[in-house]
Amino acid sequence: MKPVLPGATIGVLGSGQLGRMFAIAARRMGYRVHTFSPDSDTPTGQVSDREYDHAYDDLDAVREFARGVSVVTFEFENVPAESVEAAAALAPVRPSGAVLYTTQNRLREKSFLARGGFPVAPFRHVARPEDLPAALEEVGFPAVLKTAGFGYDGKGQSKINSEADVGGALAALGGREAVVEAFVDFEREVSVVAARGQRGEFRHYGVVENAHRRHILDLSVAPAAVADETAREAVEIARAVLEDLDVVGVTCVEFFVTRDGRLLVNELAPRPHNSGHLTFDACVTSQFEQQLRAVCNLPLGATDLLRPAAMTNLLGDLWQSGEPDWRAAASFPNVKLHLYGKTEPRPGRKMGHLTALAETPAEATRTALAAREALRPKKASG
Ligand code: AMP
Repeated sequence: MKPVLPGATIGVLGSGQLGRMFAIAARRMGYRVHTFSPDSDTPTGQVSDREYDHAYDDLDAVREFARGVSVVTFEFENVPAESVEAAAALAPVRPSGAVLYTTQNRLREKSFLARGGFPVAPFRHVARPEDLPAALEEVGFPAVLKTAGFGYDGKGQSKINSEADVGGALAALGGREAVVEAFVDFEREVSVVAARGQRGEFRHYGVVENAHRRHILDLSVAPAAVADETAREAVEIARAVLEDLDVVGVTCVEFFVTRDGRLLVNELAPRPHNSGHLTFDACVTSQFEQQLRAVCNLPLGATDLLRPAAMTNLLGDLWQSGEPDWRAAASFPNVKLHLYGKTEPRPGRKMGHLTALAETPAEATRTALAAREALRPKKASG
């Protein structure tokens, strides 16, 4: 594919914060951005040149969108395959529909990883509820039952500690196809965000450490406090995963680090990822610009981390007792505030994030958490 140069229009399927930060990076470099999703006044649409609000399966609308752009990418991987195909008939789609097909479904993703010899927690397919007891016998207790079709942020997951939890887990599943996997008693969770270009070039952002709360990413810190050997191995696994997937663009590989220092791949995201948000402020090239470079067939940018950094998500919960105290957060000179332009602060909804830069990862973490604490609305006095 010929490079798509500044001045051209890029199409984004999906309209959330990932698309918003991608659009900001693209517009900074002189591209135009069109976004497509079922909603309007979206985080991506607010900073795009054009916002299409149609259902993902409205193929005529998808075709009109694709005709107006030089390349299509996405920020949300659950776009139906037929829509991606309809777009691909009119404009290059990066990454390809084949990458989406593999990563849209946990069973396909885990089977792809296992086939490639990548380390994963033992798992079994649960096609029908009746399959669960035999599958549990093989993976053992405790286990985690997850829908095969992607839930995100822990939606569609239940932990099974013993026989007693089986009924509840099946009820939560509601007859959907699932995967059951061994629960990993991990020491920490880490991720590698990396990019692969159209000629197979590879760049990575090193290892980021992630902490989740209620299954939602809460804190990411770079660089991660892992042994050099573990970091090297994580990057090599990521390199091989991107190669095997034959992906063009940014992909995140999430890992568990077990108590005996082994890495297990938990999940893949074939797009910029929440654990890479800190690259926006802390790296020479952000994951969003890197995605743009990869999908436009431009050379990839340097990924150097300029300073240790920590990112904390701002969930809708923070708004529960009033508007957060933005001025207080701004009083931290080394903290960058990102808000996604969402008007409804529902609990658990990602509304924005903070990135703190510091001399050490520990100091960045302390600063990011202190800034988030300072945001909490103060109770009116008197
Ligand atoms: P997922 O949607 O699969 O990425 O899961 C969200 C989070 O749930 C992970 O980041 C972990 O914190 C936790 N989790 C998921 N699967 C497992 C597992 N097999 N063992 C332990 N924790 C898990």
